[in-house]
Amino acid sequence: MFPTTVAGSLPKPGWLAETTRLWPAWRQQGDALAEAKRDATVLWLKEQEQAGVDIVTDGEQSRQHFVHGFLEAVEGIDFEHKVKMGIRNDRYEAMVPQVTGPLRLKGRVHASEARIARAYTTRKLKFTLPGPMTIVDTVADAHYGSRAKLAMAFAELLNQEARALQDDGVDVIQFDEPAFNVFMDDVKEWGIDALHRAIEGLSCTTAVHICYGYGIQANIDWKASLGSEWRQYEEIFPALAASRIDQVSIECVHSQVPDRLMGLLEGKDVLVGVIDVATDAVEPPEQVADTIGRALRYVPVNRLYPCTNCGMAPMRRDVALAKLRALAAGAALARERHAR
Ligand code: ZN
Repeated sequence: MFPTTVAGSLPKPGWLAETTRLWPAWRQQGDALAEAKRDATVLWLKEQEQAGVDIVTDGEQSRQHFVHGFLEAVEGIDFEHKVKMGIRNDRYEAMVPQVTGPLRLKGRVHASEARIARAYTTRKLKFTLPGPMTIVDTVADAHYGSRAKLAMAFAELLNQEARALQDDGVDVIQFDEPAFNVFMDDVKEWGIDALHRAIEGLSCTTAVHICYGYGIQANIDWKASLGSEWRQYEEIFPALAASRIDQVSIECVHSQVPDRLMGLLEGKDVLVGVIDVATDAVEPPEQVADTIGRALRYVPVNRLYPCTNCGMAPMRRDVALAKLRALAAGAALARERHAR
């Protein structure tokens, strides 16, 4: 009952990279960097286990950014001539690389961290990849001519890596699609199709994470503009419920998402965000258990997975660790409360 998991990323230790940054510079190079990534991956696996997290991740310790970690392994992208682009419907502007030719994987993307993680934990292991729509919203296209076509091209590459991750022993493969909360019509027109392409042939558990973003200022300002009820999920959950994706990871605690929208995910496991990543205040276990109780009105008990609202990459390490403990303690309390 209530197996706990995290959305994906965890803070990088100060000896690996700059701390409390979304896009941190590495503090090592060459072999020393490879060793530091490995050490940080092992460290976070053990921290998650010790804290009581049931389905663990590599904490994305080997990538600088959740999208670009994948793009770096793709041929057909020009990183030298970046162009300015509005991202998430102009919520931020960024200098982004351009797709200039047919896309192809140079080789494996995440083999080393997946194999290290698999070797160091016997718990269920989840691995995260950026979703096709979110990738498309993070690069400029000078070749494919349509967002849907570009998404399908990326989905094919994601599928290649996902199959290899499954062979490495990964139990859950999750695609991060924050862009689903912004381009709701595209989700229905081609977003789900692209996800289906990305999971083709997988027999492991598949998940999609859809959130309102990390706790950075641009996102806090955007959330403030969304009104008293955030209804984005209402438009996309029916399509997700009808999809072949097994699990949906969503934001819940401290968000303005009406609880009843969780009821639209019938037939899916729901990874309910019971830990806020936009504040350093650590949730008391009672509050975590209360949030689980709220979700239980709409999510069947065997389908509810307490989780974090989003990744914890830009947080302080000590705060993130305290929040992992709160997640596990809150889930334990909820088990007591809801045991038959
Ligand atoms: Zn997120």
